[in-house]
Amino acid sequence: MADERVFVGDLTRKEFRERIQAGTIKAAIVPTAATEQHNEHLHMIHDTFHASYMAEHAAKKLLPQVVVATPVGIGVSEHWMEHIGTLTVRPEIFCEYVFDVCHSLARAGVENILVLNGHGGNVKPMMRRIDEYREKLGVNLRFQSYWDVYDPDYVQQHMEGGRLPGHADEFETSTMLYLAPERVQAEAIDNTAAALGTRAKGEALVGPAVDGVAALLEQMIAGEEIDLPPVTFYPEGKRNLVTGEPV
Ligand SMILES: [Zn+2]
Repeated sequence: MADERVFVGDLTRKEFRERIQAGTIKAAIVPTAATEQHNEHLHMIHDTFHASYMAEHAAKKLLPQVVVATPVGIGVSEHWMEHIGTLTVRPEIFCEYVFDVCHSLARAGVENILVLNGHGGNVKPMMRRIDEYREKLGVNLRFQSYWDVYDPDYVQQHMEGGRLPGHADEFETSTMLYLAPERVQAEAIDNTAAALGTRAKGEALVGPAVDGVAALLEQMIAGEEIDLPPVTFYPEGKRNLVTGEPV
């Protein structure tokens, strides 16, 4: 059977070393996300589950060139602390922790590193630091959320509310219904936006995200610029998640 392992932690040090020495590993993904309240009906691991899934499956499309670091599963979630159970770290701690993970990969000889984010609260803090971090590490370090890759027309065709990623509503409920329905407690849904979620929408939206992330990695490996704006989707189009400007 073909070796489909992509997580760094699933390799021995010998396997990792030999792949680096042979020039097999061309890029690494560092998934970053959150463990935070996702309304009454979704498990709090939602964002980390998704960032990990997109990273794993994008890497598998590019076997054996891409490895995936152990996900950074607690992010900047101060804005949800009123809902107990949410775990948060301070923005500067989050950024520095992610930097150290990337530094480890750079020290191992990985030249292309994609921080693949799955939580909106991490975007502003990391966008403030990413250029400085790239300079410090001297490697092709990039930061994108997995939804940055979506085509806005495709998103609007496949959704009713049209907000993506939103928070624990139509998009996130749909993708989890497709990927892990046991993590959706449908009977606990208490708002109309979440009630729009369906497995079919999730199926339509997961594949293009994986494909888009894999395409970003191919571009990075080919030495092309990839910086997509950090976005969030509304029925009227995309907006820059940091500035709020239409893009
Ligand atoms: Zn979420």
